[in-house]
Amino acid sequence: MGYPPSSSLRPSACPALSRIVAARDGGLCRIKLPGGKLHARQALAIADAADLHASGLVELTNRGNLQLRGVKAGDETPLSQRLSDAGLGPRLGAAESLDPVLAAKQAAIADDARNLLLSPTAGLDVDALHDTVPLAERILALLQSEPRVAELSPKFSVLLDGGERLAALDHPHDVWFAAMPPAARVPGEARFAVGLAGQPSAHGGDALAAVRADDIVALMRALLHTFLDLAARDENRMRDLLRSHDRHAVLAHAAAKAGIDLQRGSDIETWRRAPTDSARRFGAHAQSNAGFWHVGGQPPLGRLGTATLRGLAELASALGDGSLRLTPWQGVLMPNVGERAVPQALDGLRSLGFVLDAKAPVARLIACAGSTGCVKGMADTKADALALAEQLPAGIEAHLSGCRRSCAAAHCAPYTLLAVAPARYDLYRRRQAADSERSSPLLDGAARFGERIGIHLTIEEAVTCLREAAGVQVP
Ligand code: SF4
Repeated sequence: MGYPPSSSLRPSACPALSRIVAARDGGLCRIKLPGGKLHARQALAIADAADLHASGLVELTNRGNLQLRGVKAGDETPLSQRLSDAGLGPRLGAAESLDPVLAAKQAAIADDARNLLLSPTAGLDVDALHDTVPLAERILALLQSEPRVAELSPKFSVLLDGGERLAALDHPHDVWFAAMPPAARVPGEARFAVGLAGQPSAHGGDALAAVRADDIVALMRALLHTFLDLAARDENRMRDLLRSHDRHAVLAHAAAKAGIDLQRGSDIETWRRAPTDSARRFGAHAQSNAGFWHVGGQPPLGRLGTATLRGLAELASALGDGSLRLTPWQGVLMPNVGERAVPQALDGLRSLGFVLDAKAPVARLIACAGSTGCVKGMADTKADALALAEQLPAGIEAHLSGCRRSCAAAHCAPYTLLAVAPARYDLYRRRQAADSERSSPLLDGAARFGERIGIHLTIEEAVTCLREAAGVQVP
């Protein structure tokens, strides 16, 4: 694996496996889980590492990853090593350097680059058009071995959508591929719609072209090179590049570079992604392999302790196949549970404190680390979210953000409470859902949250405002 000159490397302040970032409550270590997959034995290793080297507080992220809070000063290297030893680092294979310093650098770069989002039910979903798991392995191998990924922003991300019913499509990605029905002229040939700086949607009009599934890895590699060749130093993401370059031209350039024929036509221009159902992350649902189910839930506000993580690992080993899948909604799925074990699996999750009902108030709230964990936090968003949960009107979904960075939500929630002082929030309401989902990443500051409908509110006042906005009679 060769490296570009160091001047072309893009620095990062994001936490990673070997880059422990200082936070108010200690170091923060992020563990990327490709496809959200975590084996029970790795969950146990994480629990041990979190108890030994950190505070024992584990967070699930909105990209299906994990992070450990409160890493102790001086424990950074042993923690990273322990996690790597548990198989939680990138897989470099034959490309890994024998020089330990260079090998560590390679691992850090590869870790940053492996931002590939799949449905948590990839390969299991009864409604999927394509099993994306084998293709995802090949894209990950590319991202972990391509020398020029060292020049990419660690936030550069890719979505591979198999058409699953359970899929998070509200996160914008630099590059996305989404399974489409085969073309009428080549029945049986798997193909994917492709888009840049966004996501597929049920509204349509997002796909630039389609490609054969077999061409995706080569096109992805060419897109990385095209982006890096064209982007100025301050253009870190595809959306930055597309301010000065036509998206069709960027894609055509990459396709020509890879020697790939792009498919175009009215069926692609009018293609709409089938609707998703995010409520399927809760409870039990039959899988495509008959007789097996996935069972899922969320820990309140995406946080759990090491005892819960161990309990989860034991449950997955006893009732499933020992694997877990983290969801982009800060929750967990236990796949491959035999039909007869489903009630026991649901009871087990419930007894571990997981929320299993999409309508539960705490299932409709997300909150960032807030002032107890982050120096930028203006309020204790986690505690305030729990207070809000006690009175949250039915049907309302809200996001509490300690500052404008909006770490807990890559999308624009229907309602955002933006902290402005301890226990005080400005309340925003999302504009037209379809428009805001597409435009929010391009808007700056609070404008991305929508229209401000309340200023400097206490949680009680926010509840009143939310009730009025939802048309609920204020008692
Ligand atoms: S949104 Fe702001 S306060 Fe919350 S975790 Fe991110 S930087 Fe910290």
